[in-house]
Amino acid sequence: MSKSLQAIRGMNDILPEQTPLWRYFEGTVARLLDNYGYRQIRMPIVEFTELFKRSIGEVTDIVEKEMYTFDDRNGDSLTLRPEGTAACVRAVLEHGITGGGQVQKLWYIGPMFRHERPQKGRYRQFHQIGLEVFNLEGPDIDAELIVMTWRLWGELGLRDAVKLELNSLGTSESRGRYREALVEFLSAHLDNLDEDSQRRLKTNPLRVLDTKNAETQAVLVDAPKMADYLDDESRAHFEGLKARLDAVGIPYVINPKLVRGLDYYSKTVFEWVTDKLGAQGTVCAGGRYDGLVEQMGGKPTPGVGFAMGIERLVLMLEALDKVPQELSRQVDVYLCAFGEAAELAALALSERIRDQLPNLRLQINAGAGSFKSQFKKADKSGALYALILGDDELAQQVVGFKPLRGQGEQQSIAWDALAAHLATCVVQG
Ligand code: ATP
Ligand code: MG
Repeated sequence: MSKSLQAIRGMNDILPEQTPLWRYFEGTVARLLDNYGYRQIRMPIVEFTELFKRSIGEVTDIVEKEMYTFDDRNGDSLTLRPEGTAACVRAVLEHGITGGGQVQKLWYIGPMFRHERPQKGRYRQFHQIGLEVFNLEGPDIDAELIVMTWRLWGELGLRDAVKLELNSLGTSESRGRYREALVEFLSAHLDNLDEDSQRRLKTNPLRVLDTKNAETQAVLVDAPKMADYLDDESRAHFEGLKARLDAVGIPYVINPKLVRGLDYYSKTVFEWVTDKLGAQGTVCAGGRYDGLVEQMGGKPTPGVGFAMGIERLVLMLEALDKVPQELSRQVDVYLCAFGEAAELAALALSERIRDQLPNLRLQINAGAGSFKSQFKKADKSGALYALILGDDELAQQVVGFKPLRGQGEQQSIAWDALAAHLATCVVQG
């Protein structure tokens, strides 16, 4: 196929074989979030470029080199959203729904775009479920976010495969003091830093902590520690969070080098990481961003949130064999009809059955066909039962009811009794 007719590198189709697992994952998260009192918000996928520059920070990987930015026909610079927080903050400000200290517990789902090197677990269009809470400043809500994800890993069967890493970045004041100390220390070791870190030292020094370069890592062993610079308030906040995680029994490790790639974090930062996906090990990441709303032109408004990468979690469910068995079957019953008169009766009957059993997954044969070909299609559909309607059945107002998996004889069932019969033998999801 010519190149222009292929999908863009790093942007994937999610094929019908894969969508049941995606929907299972998304449905599980949505139900959980409903149960904890979070409400969904939907933002546009495209925003003014300025929004991301202002919120994410000019000197971050995302803004420096990962954004899909273009001019629209008016000459406005627009960007495909690389993450959800910026647009969510824009939306709550625009609609005034966090004014006067109103608490908002919001979540969103959808595609994000970053021009990164595509590889397993890293794509150019990927999908996140994210969540943001506004106007709650205590560690109790930070804890709720983490407790909720812990429950999610439990429901998905992933608890043993993920690890929680925590850190506190302090308030912007204490972070400022730490940044100074770090810059002073690193400047004295400039020659031993990799090129990227030398550059970051000038633009975004905390990001040096995040380096993958071994020589720079060796220098960092003796670097000042953020924990020693935390102000009392941040320290108390962090203790409050840890106490709550302890109360629920959620294990965690403190990772003093966890700084996160986006500029806007303060106090709590966390990542759920796994060693089951190779290099792309972070499946969920977030933290507190008490200064962001003000930075974007709103009143001072505490905020905290996280985002998880759906592709990585789906990959994990597959890698660990945690795909629920029942997802493999998409059809409960397959209705075969032979001849025009039987087809008409079958259609009317199937609609009656759907009225009575709204959750039944009933597929009606389309495109006619012989006994043999319709049975083949019934079998291939994965259905548990075939229903058969030919001239004889039509005359008697019955259907043939034939188990397709395992034992059981074909039997005749009156149309009026069919729904009740199906209700007893098909477990409806
Ligand atoms: P990474 O360090 O892996 O690049 P990040 O810090 O850039 O991640 P965030 O911006 O915090 O990621 O996004 C939250 C989550 O979204 C990540 O933990 C990951 O699960 C997922 N994610 C981020 N970028 C990608 C991508 N390019 N492809 C697939 N998933 C991604
Ligand atoms: Mg990244």
